[in-house]
Amino acid sequence: MIDSHCHLDARAFDGDRDAVLARARAAGVTELVVPAVGPDGWAALRDLCRATPGLHFGLGIHPQLLPEVPARDDDRHLADLDAALARGGAVAVGECGLDGASAAAGAPLDRQVAVLRGHLAVARRHRLPVILHCLRAHDALLALLEEEALPAGGVLHSWSGSAEQVRAFLPAGLHFAFAGPVTFERARRPLAAARAVPRERLLLETDAPDQTPAPHRGGRNEPAYLPLVAAGVAAALGIPAEEVGAITARNARALFRLPVAPAGEGAAPGVG
Ligand SMILES: [Zn+2]
Repeated sequence: MIDSHCHLDARAFDGDRDAVLARARAAGVTELVVPAVGPDGWAALRDLCRATPGLHFGLGIHPQLLPEVPARDDDRHLADLDAALARGGAVAVGECGLDGASAAAGAPLDRQVAVLRGHLAVARRHRLPVILHCLRAHDALLALLEEEALPAGGVLHSWSGSAEQVRAFLPAGLHFAFAGPVTFERARRPLAAARAVPRERLLLETDAPDQTPAPHRGGRNEPAYLPLVAAGVAAALGIPAEEVGAITARNARALFRLPVAPAGEGAAPGVG
């Protein structure tokens, strides 16, 4: 299985990162895509992924970081992003996107849109897929995607929209990644959304350390919990969890252009 979105570089994992990775592998999660949050973390993230088999990274500026960053630095950060991507190794541009709460917290939506456009321009230049965050800003993102081409596609991570919104975003050519909420007891909306996504556009993620799936809610999330997310999606689709693991790993591998699958990918731990 591939965890298509996991903040393994987060401080929450500083004390036991190796053990977290070992548990992920034991749970059948062979590869992880780790999207950056902001410029301060890019170099360390690159070093971590280069030193660790199975880890891949994206570079970008998370919209939730923008309220803490002076707007006058945005252009410089985007130029730095271009330069960092030119060094190679990244599998995506991101995390980037639009965030309704950040707009309320001091990063107005027009600034967020400008920064996101900068990310998309860089993605076009480097022909990389984008990892998109979208929280309570779906209409604004949809309007922007109608104007901006994505030459290498991308993913709407931790999809929080409805099935109807899935259908609205499908023409943009994006993938949809599902996280912990598909495991919640009253998870009707994410399950209906998962059913609306064509199988070849479906991805799994933990978004660890956030979005902890049931039955671990309240604690720190980690990539070893990805099989719980797979089971939640599998229940929504009425197919075996192993199949969801295999389909989504294949999709992630194609989207992020990851090297050839190791033997037994998608298989449950201890099987094959
Ligand atoms: Zn994230």
